Amino acid sequence: MTEPRRKKTDTMSEAELDAHHAKKMKMKKAARNKMISAKPVEHKGLVMINTGHGKGKTTAAMGLAIRAIGNGFPVHIIQFVKGVWPTGERKVLESFPDLCTIRAMGKGFSWETQDRQRDIQAARIAWDNALQAIQNPKNFLVILDEINIPLRYGHLKVEEIITALRNKPENLHVLLTGRNAPDALKDAADMVSEINPIKHHFRDGGVKAQLGIEY
Ligand code: ATP
Ligand code: MG
Repeated sequence: MTEPRRKKTDTMSEAELDAHHAKKMKMKKAARNKMISAKPVEHKGLVMINTGHGKGKTTAAMGLAIRAIGNGFPVHIIQFVKGVWPTGERKVLESFPDLCTIRAMGKGFSWETQDRQRDIQAARIAWDNALQAIQNPKNFLVILDEINIPLRYGHLKVEEIITALRNKPENLHVLLTGRNAPDALKDAADMVSEINPIKHHFRDGGVKAQLGIEY
């Protein structure tokens, strides 16, 4: 059996650890200062994507909505897939009608609806609503939750979405969520986060969707 590799710090005295830490933090601070001075952009309307196969894309998007609303900024959320069941986050966000509009415009998951024309029509109506929200100068943040799903099925065209993002008001932030974000969309974004599943209670433990955790 091979011995676990020892780190340099394993053999250091307390005083050496203090000195080592101070040196590392000094370097970190210098790197941070350099980064800040090299990028003097203070305000920019961002295009952001939460993608990947792990849990947390929609909840992180709703967290961002709460951050914006808490600062008094108007948010418009369109949910492209959800529609058939209520969710806890929707109830909370609906209690801020002056600052938040949330529309669940999907017809449920495709494997449940099994009706392609209905899905295409629902995606179209949701996108028309999204476009209006993107073009509305009052909005601070627009969230297109699960838009990657109709894109994946070809119910919406990625070029159309990218054109709208290119022509959006300069200061507007847009966050798009859903698994399998298309490469062209990722290229057009300022920020892309991919959530990777290490374990999931449904896949690995057979635990069903629970109120307050999944919806
Ligand atoms: P959440 O809404 O909890 O933030 P999400 O938006 O990241 O999750 P989706 O890709 O929209 O997840 O999937 C919808 C549902 O599928 C969620 O209820 C989530 O718990 C579940 N889910 C997410 N990742 C996995 C996974 N790797 N295996 C099984 N189920 C998953
Ligand atoms: Mg989601």
